[in-house]
Amino acid sequence: MEEEKNALFMDKPNGWESINEEEKRKIFDFCDEYISFLNRAKTEREFISEARLIAERNGYRDISTFDTLKAGDKIFFDNRGKSMYLAIIGEENIENGMHIIGSHVDSPRLDLKPNPLYEDSDFAYFKTHYYGGIKKYQWTTIPLSIHGVIIKTNGEKITVNIGENENDPIFTITDLLPHLAIDQMEKKLKNAVSGEDLNLLIGSIPYGDKKISEKVKFNILKLLNKKYGIVEVDLLSSELELVPAFNARSLGFDESMVAGYGQDDKVCAYSSFAALMSLHHVKNTAVCILSDKEEIGSMGNTGMESHTFDFFISEMLNKLNQNRPNLLDRVFCFSKMLSSDVDAGFDPIYASVSDKYNAGFLGKGISINKYTGARGKSGASDANAEYVAWVRNILEKNNIKYQIAELGKVDIGGGGTIAYILANKGADVIDCGIPLLSMHSPYEVTSKFDIYEAFKTYKAFWSE
Ligand code: MN
Ligand code: MN
Repeated sequence: MEEEKNALFMDKPNGWESINEEEKRKIFDFCDEYISFLNRAKTEREFISEARLIAERNGYRDISTFDTLKAGDKIFFDNRGKSMYLAIIGEENIENGMHIIGSHVDSPRLDLKPNPLYEDSDFAYFKTHYYGGIKKYQWTTIPLSIHGVIIKTNGEKITVNIGENENDPIFTITDLLPHLAIDQMEKKLKNAVSGEDLNLLIGSIPYGDKKISEKVKFNILKLLNKKYGIVEVDLLSSELELVPAFNARSLGFDESMVAGYGQDDKVCAYSSFAALMSLHHVKNTAVCILSDKEEIGSMGNTGMESHTFDFFISEMLNKLNQNRPNLLDRVFCFSKMLSSDVDAGFDPIYASVSDKYNAGFLGKGISINKYTGARGKSGASDANAEYVAWVRNILEKNNIKYQIAELGKVDIGGGGTIAYILANKGADVIDCGIPLLSMHSPYEVTSKFDIYEAFKTYKAFWSE
């Protein structure tokens, strides 16, 4: 009887129960590398420069350095240092389509406003404008670091990274003491801290004699000038991002999880990138997208709505000496894609927002979303059942643990990824990523088991 039941029922076991010590060691080793990468790459620019270094070490070259391309060639296109596309040219004719895995390397954060610096009551501050969907109260009273670039009018680029090194100072946004927060505590959570109050505390020592005004700001500008060679007007052409100054770490007595900032979506970006780096020859051309601006709608020339990606594929067709009218459309229409973005992991403390039968669980493997969207699947790229079966087949024959889930209960909320953008070009696309707790917070949680299953999934998909 039990055998018959097992044959008919779908099984969703906890992944840790199915592995031996050797496999556990592999998972932990892989995640040690991931944690160390995450601590070097907290922003989109840092992710791309780290990834570019690793890719070049693995024999990847800028596509512009090739006159012609052939099977086995490893290429990349670095899009303004903020997004990147990489590929291994396959043995098969590219007309039969490519195998694409796409993730994003930007994460929710606080950006500095164009005119950020001001002084009030003998404190100096930077004003910010938040980027992506955050719960604003989570970004007060934590150590923050400043990452990014300042570009001078002569083109000189100054790279800023302060608050990560043990000897660096950190920065923070203050919050009201509970003793005087009677009115604040009555507010709705979303209004408790206003966007205009997310001002970063950056200094308090005045400089100069009594006659001078804004002496604290003056002192900060003197320090910035000494350290970076800039004056206030140079901040107009900067992109400075505030991110948590704490490091990603192993989580739990059993060290089974990773806690870290920016895992949406750097956990999928890293595991897919690492999978690509482990491959040399592929049947179908393997393409890895590391996109930017997903958290604010994929707009702009480094986001996936941009034609820059089409340009990269067109250049590939040109250099394969087989481009002709409409070939790009044909290649897209025959392509297959995994949109690798994180999924909302089931959190028992907040169980009421999830449908237990259709939720992604930490430790149960890669989480596939047939569709995303909200309010009656609105805005969803709903993968075709035929394609879901094709993906399932790869996972099952490679003994990879997977779950097919939805992001939350019907009508509770929803979300989106870059899936629809590639689907619009004609590719078969499915969302497929790692379940996460505390998504978009300064400290997100993943399971090491799922991270490694994702790596195996991406490798198997490109090896198909
Ligand atoms: Mn995401
Ligand atoms: Mn997100």
